[in-house]
Amino acid sequence: MIGRMQDRPLSLAHIFHRAEQMFGDTRIITAERDGDRITAVRDWAVRVRRLAAALDAFGVAPDARVGTLAMNTQAHLEAYYAAPLTGRVLHTINMRLTAEHLAFVITHAADEVLIVDRSLVPLLAEIADRLPTVRHWILVEDGSGADIPAGPAFVDYEELLASTPPRDGLFEIQDENRASGLCYTSGTTGDPKGVVYTHRSTMLHSLGQLGVDSLGIREADVVMPIVPMFHVNAWGLPYAALLAGADLVLPARSTQPVELLALMQRHRVTMAAAATTVWNFAAPHLDDFDLSSLRMVMSGGSATPSSLSELWRERAGIPITHSWGMTEISPVAVIGGVSAAEAGASEERKVELRALQGRPVPLVQLRLVDDDGLELPWDGSSVGEVQVAGPWVASGYYQRESEGMTADGWLRSGDLGTIDGVGYLRIVDRVKDIIKSGGEWISSVDLENAIMSHPDVEEAAVIGRADPKWAERPVAYVVRRGEAALTPDMVREHLRTLVAKWWLPEDIIFLPELPKTGSGKFSKTALRRLLEGSDATP
Ligand code: ADP
Repeated sequence: MIGRMQDRPLSLAHIFHRAEQMFGDTRIITAERDGDRITAVRDWAVRVRRLAAALDAFGVAPDARVGTLAMNTQAHLEAYYAAPLTGRVLHTINMRLTAEHLAFVITHAADEVLIVDRSLVPLLAEIADRLPTVRHWILVEDGSGADIPAGPAFVDYEELLASTPPRDGLFEIQDENRASGLCYTSGTTGDPKGVVYTHRSTMLHSLGQLGVDSLGIREADVVMPIVPMFHVNAWGLPYAALLAGADLVLPARSTQPVELLALMQRHRVTMAAAATTVWNFAAPHLDDFDLSSLRMVMSGGSATPSSLSELWRERAGIPITHSWGMTEISPVAVIGGVSAAEAGASEERKVELRALQGRPVPLVQLRLVDDDGLELPWDGSSVGEVQVAGPWVASGYYQRESEGMTADGWLRSGDLGTIDGVGYLRIVDRVKDIIKSGGEWISSVDLENAIMSHPDVEEAAVIGRADPKWAERPVAYVVRRGEAALTPDMVREHLRTLVAKWWLPEDIIFLPELPKTGSGKFSKTALRRLLEGSDATP
């Protein structure tokens, strides 16, 4: 028997129309160079309609890719909606890519329109004459006064909106599986790979974020995505926030911890999301701000050491909420925290639970698989590759074969982890980063967290070095906090009580800063190159 319920396409049009109709007073706040710009959703929606009409008037393909090279700003949020609402595909471009990779992704995606912040235009200088697919160049002024390269005929964004009457009526997306967005993974090796989101996947991911045991995004929230809008759609928050009717605070070019904390204080932000490194850099300044409005500080992108989360709890009154995900998962798969069953557990146990990556949110399925492809039990100790399935998980990459997928259609995350009996995922390491010493595994992530729990350590990254006796031994790269007089022996002494003796790094090397990847993570590839270089020098 077939059910008799309506089968309506899930699409971003619903989020837009709902916000326009019900949340006209909701605020979009952007930290611009000369002060905070506050726009009511009702006025923002008219601008989205103007941009939508402009895209139509350009005569680009009905499914044209609209590339954005932009920070977290109101204009970027306008493109987030105007492109998919007109059936086009929003391609958010990572500004941290190399010039070669920028040219690659823009051409591979075949972007017909590029919307670029003025301050980021110089990134195109080297490649502007190698972008044959781009037909319309739009410049968003940000007061930076950056030089505009010769070649592209830029149209001013504000002039374009002012001269284009808003499109009226309802936006309609007939096929919920139509592409809404495209995002390339940074690709530490090889060319970046495109992940193509659909209206359906983005809608369901947004709805997932409203769940109370998930992010619990609600109308009363003031949501601040610090995670860039060019990185996995700022973790989906620009869609989830407007679905709920929450205010959005967009930091634009503010990147310094003090600026970000001031912005959070100024607008009584309740929920903020950023990579672990951002929360780490903000930690020394917590006493200087009133952050009492916060109900959730979400981290992801790399493991969040419990020492950092506890520091936030002591100083800002709120621990960090851990999450794990990937570009291929839109990105949210698991959310951390203390389960209802353990609400009465000891403080020590809660610290332990919060250090875990978390439990899968509804509709996301996880499994652990060993090297032979056998599924492992959820016993909290069996280590295997984490594989993922669900309606907002990629089924393959743009214009590539089913790379990264299993024969039965699960996404291979490339991460090793354990899962316990109630679903808590613990990421042990990336498959390619785990250190194999004397036939046993050393988790570079656990070792990094142990080193970073030393108060004088700002950052630490651990890689394996080939060793004739043990196969591999760990080497740690450490950044001292401020002027701290930290020595390798002091780090080793600190580690003695935290890890097994055979985990102690052979070498502890101090650096002024750690090399980072396009998405702001420690670049182990760069560290391996550094290590090879230093080995070559007598
Ligand atoms: P994002 O950085 O937004 O999570 P990416 O696709 O750039 O997305 O990177 C995904 C990878 O980042 C994961 O496969 C995993 O290795 C790592 N990662 C993400 N979150 C965590 C976490 N909480 N703990 C450990 N590793 C993480």
